[in-house]
Amino acid sequence: MRYIHGFRDGGAAAALAELIGAEVDSTREYHLMEFCGGHTHAIFRYGVEELLPRNVRLVHGPGCPVCVLAMPRLDAAIELASRPQVTLMSYGDMVRVPASRRGSLLKARAQGADVRMAYSALEALDIAVANPDREIVFFAIGFETTTPATAHLILEARRRGLRNITVYCNHVVTPAAIQSILDAPGAAGQTQVRIDGFIGPSHVSAVIGSAPYEEFAHTYRKPVVIAGFEPLDVMQAVYMLVKQINDGQAWVENQFTRGVTRHGNRKAQAIVAEVFELRASFEWRGLGYLAHSAMRIKSSYAEYDAERRFAMQETPVRENAACQCPSIIRGQKKPTDCTIFGTVCTPRSPIGSCMVSAEGVCAAHYKYRRIGNTVAPATVGLGAPA
Ligand code: SF4
Repeated sequence: MRYIHGFRDGGAAAALAELIGAEVDSTREYHLMEFCGGHTHAIFRYGVEELLPRNVRLVHGPGCPVCVLAMPRLDAAIELASRPQVTLMSYGDMVRVPASRRGSLLKARAQGADVRMAYSALEALDIAVANPDREIVFFAIGFETTTPATAHLILEARRRGLRNITVYCNHVVTPAAIQSILDAPGAAGQTQVRIDGFIGPSHVSAVIGSAPYEEFAHTYRKPVVIAGFEPLDVMQAVYMLVKQINDGQAWVENQFTRGVTRHGNRKAQAIVAEVFELRASFEWRGLGYLAHSAMRIKSSYAEYDAERRFAMQETPVRENAACQCPSIIRGQKKPTDCTIFGTVCTPRSPIGSCMVSAEGVCAAHYKYRRIGNTVAPATVGLGAPA
């Protein structure tokens, strides 16, 4: 904690805000998408938007792994968990995400399914060893940050000769989602989201490096600044993006030099490449089917693939018509555009996935009490983190 305070210092934030204000051209607008829910959370929690000039707009992106899981995949997990021999494990947020027909893994558990929360993928190994007569399924979700841990789980299961453990793989990849947002104006039924630059995710980039974003910066002429999750990280990234935009530049910069390199973590990449390969296509909530946007388990590790072992089925479902999560995930709408935000839909009784996870935009908006463009005074101001 000693080191974190330096990244939340109110005086430094005020100085950075002044620098940004001096750099911003008041005759134009800057629309910057923070891809990751971790950034969204920091922005709401510390009132970062309130420190920026009004013509710098932060657009919240799809980087919340719980939020982007398509409902048919969640329904399939619930069906699997309901089979008598199965113990299904997943990260905590996932069990509360609403599925079709107001179901959820939590409700399935209340009805007798063996659903357990895990803090780490490797916990599934201990459960498998302790319960040799049960089928342990790890419901794996997340971006490139958590994929190596799932790969390690599978490698370790094979090393130990475990036969009663499988993975339901829902790992997705960041670059495909960014590309989909940049290509969105051409997609049917979607309105254009103006984006002048991206605040890139630091934890994902610690694994994949900064190099994968270079293609976007070059092809789409959109600058990318990879940033840490503390408020001063985000503000510095805004400053770097504004400077690039003013200078007519579009390249990848790394604000998070304390954790990200150009080529990332080679060891983590190697175990992911050993176990996983890209799917031809995968459905994302809000973004639809995206080519080469998710991982699946290679056939050489087929015995650990829950989709193969249990012949899982996906059934198309309709989203709740009132929930605006798909548009919010695409950056087209804000939580307050949803008529049931904070009334019918709350963190205690979520209707959509964006209200569940701490990284969800609706949950962050609700928690920090932002109404329209105002924010409750208790949450404004850096240097006094809760
Ligand atoms: S407030 Fe609830 S229902 Fe509305 S968009 Fe957000 S998650 Fe969906």
